[in-house]
Amino acid sequence: MDCDKCGADAVTHAAYSGAHLCGEHFRRSVEKRVRRRVREDGLLDPEATPDDPDRWVIGLSGGKDSVVLATILEETFGRDPRVELIGLTIHEGIEGYRDESLAACRELTDDLGIRHEVVSYAEEFGVEMDDVVEDDPENMAACAYCGVFRRDLLEGYAEELDADKLLTGHNLDDEAQTALMNVLEGDVRQVAKHFDASLGPFDDRTLDDADRDGDTTKSNAHARAESDHFVPRAKPLRDVPEKEVALYCHLRDLPSHMAECPHAEEAYRGEIKSILHDLEESHPGTRHSIMAGYEEIAGIVADTYRDDGDDGDADLGECIECGSTTSREVCRKCRLIESIEAV
Ligand code: SF4
Ligand SMILES: [Zn+2]
Ligand SMILES: [Zn+2]
Repeated sequence: MDCDKCGADAVTHAAYSGAHLCGEHFRRSVEKRVRRRVREDGLLDPEATPDDPDRWVIGLSGGKDSVVLATILEETFGRDPRVELIGLTIHEGIEGYRDESLAACRELTDDLGIRHEVVSYAEEFGVEMDDVVEDDPENMAACAYCGVFRRDLLEGYAEELDADKLLTGHNLDDEAQTALMNVLEGDVRQVAKHFDASLGPFDDRTLDDADRDGDTTKSNAHARAESDHFVPRAKPLRDVPEKEVALYCHLRDLPSHMAECPHAEEAYRGEIKSILHDLEESHPGTRHSIMAGYEEIAGIVADTYRDDGDDGDADLGECIECGSTTSREVCRKCRLIESIEAV
């Protein structure tokens, strides 16, 4: 097959769009989608200046998604003095997995010339995932511990680095899976939270401290970005299917680490993934239409909760152990660490 744009040999055919593209045009099409998402989400603060740049922390795991995200963002904004990029890698303490992906992260950030920070569960919490899995004091899947620790470190360090945005490399498949899981679980509040946490344009999201204080003069997103303990998230890769991210990474020969974590066992997500895969095969475009509809519904649901004055975060306070935001006296992360230490 020939490329629709230039007639050269096509390297890919996207069933959902019908497009056949050569390497060069495929590459451009991925980059175009990421840039459009950045624009539509209003990622770049219009008030950012070279003296006061928008600081974006990228969660960099060394897997294909975050590597592609960091590369495209650097190539788009690397010379723009209004944007500052920092890669942040979390080391979970998983032998034979994270060490190699950390090497990929170092190589990439060296190549791109961006600042790179590494934080580990061992240094921050005194635990390593390999030991947690072995002891398993709460009788849970590895990812249930790991997800709590990772979120805590990503958010904590994004704040410490004084980030304006925290960006992660979730692709279209990841987001469509999460959307479907939330719907199938009937978790409407989770749908609203998903919207406010990372979907939708920044100006459509809310729930910031300045708003609660009655400051409505600034746009919600800017106000929230300026609030003390909440770095807004975004997922600029979420229009690009997983297979295309992998192909992009491969065609450009970017340093990435493809191996799966040996503790990965998100059983339910695996089921959803295979259902979505089958649906996409027989009805190309399913992932896109799920996300288009879900995002619209999520926006409406998020608005409704806000209008009811029920943001689900009404009685948030600070954890007495670590100071992070929680609805309990001691946050989930601190409770998990306590139970791991008690083994
Ligand atoms: S797969 Fe699970 S255990 Fe492994 S790094 Fe990811 S969240 Fe952690
Ligand atoms: Zn072409
Ligand atoms: Zn805590």
